[in-house]
Amino acid sequence: MLSRGGLTSLFLLLLVQLAVCIEDYYKVRTDYTELFNRRWQSSHKGRRMQVLGVDRQATDKQLKSAYRQLSKKYHPDKNPGDDSAHDKFVEVSEAYDVLSDSEMRQIYDRYGHDGVKQHKSSSGGASGGGHDPFDLFSRFFGGHGHFGRSPGEPRGHNVEVKVGISLRDFYNGATTEFQWNRQHICEACEGTGSADGQVETCSACNGHGVRIVKQQLAPGMFQQMQMRCDACGGRGKSIKHKCPVCQGQRVERKLTTVHLQVGRGAHRDSRVVYENEADESPDWVAGDLVVTLAEKAPAPEDNPDHVDGAYFRRKGDDLYWTEVLSLREAWMGGWTRNLTHLDNHVVRLGRPRGKVVQNGHVDTIPGEGMPRWHEQGDSVYHEHEFGNLYVSYEVILPDQMDAKMEKEFWDLWEKWRGKNGVDLQKDSGRPEVPPSSSSSSRDEL
Ligand SMILES: [Zn+2]
Ligand SMILES: [Zn+2]
Repeated sequence: MLSRGGLTSLFLLLLVQLAVCIEDYYKVRTDYTELFNRRWQSSHKGRRMQVLGVDRQATDKQLKSAYRQLSKKYHPDKNPGDDSAHDKFVEVSEAYDVLSDSEMRQIYDRYGHDGVKQHKSSSGGASGGGHDPFDLFSRFFGGHGHFGRSPGEPRGHNVEVKVGISLRDFYNGATTEFQWNRQHICEACEGTGSADGQVETCSACNGHGVRIVKQQLAPGMFQQMQMRCDACGGRGKSIKHKCPVCQGQRVERKLTTVHLQVGRGAHRDSRVVYENEADESPDWVAGDLVVTLAEKAPAPEDNPDHVDGAYFRRKGDDLYWTEVLSLREAWMGGWTRNLTHLDNHVVRLGRPRGKVVQNGHVDTIPGEGMPRWHEQGDSVYHEHEFGNLYVSYEVILPDQMDAKMEKEFWDLWEKWRGKNGVDLQKDSGRPEVPPSSSSSSRDEL
């Protein structure tokens, strides 16, 4: 027969087993963990569904940040027709609703879902939630809990940001981040502007936000004007104890880090749009943050491997390079060059002996240009194609010559002159010139 203690522990064991099957408010489901680090706690192994993707020790700030990111990601407005996203959206707000309340959080930590449920029903609250996930969403992002789809809902301005990307990062693709000074809904007061959550109706305007002012135009003639109430700034509400963080402004500006993914071969000046990530306000739905990928001028710090490719010039999917040849190389051939490309692979240029390169000649090297940008990026289903690399040659003549060398060359020229001259007139393809202007049909080598 089991003792009393034995029974209790058996019961507890069953309860733990049960809790393990229901989603864990702290964690994120394994199929949407990319936003968060996946730290499994040894005591919570097993089949679990996870919601917020944070540790049990997570601070309020971390919880908020997790909620902000996930609720936006799974908002039904962003995933029309996707029932699973809708469910996740509800789960995320339920989880945040419970964990953001310190009392409920303690209950949840100790007794799990059942404890929360019991507490809610015993304290007279609606059992099993009863909160509106869209209300919670609007507390964070303003508006009416939607992404500005409802007509007439005010929307904030878009913010345009230009980010300089090196050619190397355009070629290889890059994950980077940048910061900007974004207006946030004050987290301390959740956009109320009040230190204690107390918001009262403005006594100066009785909550209308406007006051009627009578103005005398002439004796006996009055004009009635509606003025914005300056006691409450037109909001109709007043706050006795202003939030110390935002000074009652309800918003604050702070440096915000944005992660930026530059796809391989992304076009210069292409735009990346972060929906609803511009300035926030309780009065409107945030506009979009629009990032333009500008191309940075080549700089040593962007070229740690000192590759030649850093100085390539880009036009669409093609790259351009100028290579300098000496007179001997251009004329005699028998030379090679190793051009290091933007990912350090080597493109070999050269001519065998006896192959002439004219000044200004352009070699087309297929497949050595930029990767062609593709929506699917580096997915296994997509093989990258590349544009061309155009190498143009510039021949530099020596401006000084050793006296002995000069004599030897001179003698050589003299020997071949007249014997093997080139008829430039014939080669030029121009019509015959009158005989008077040309004394000899032969030109020098
Ligand atoms: Zn505040
Ligand atoms: Zn007022």
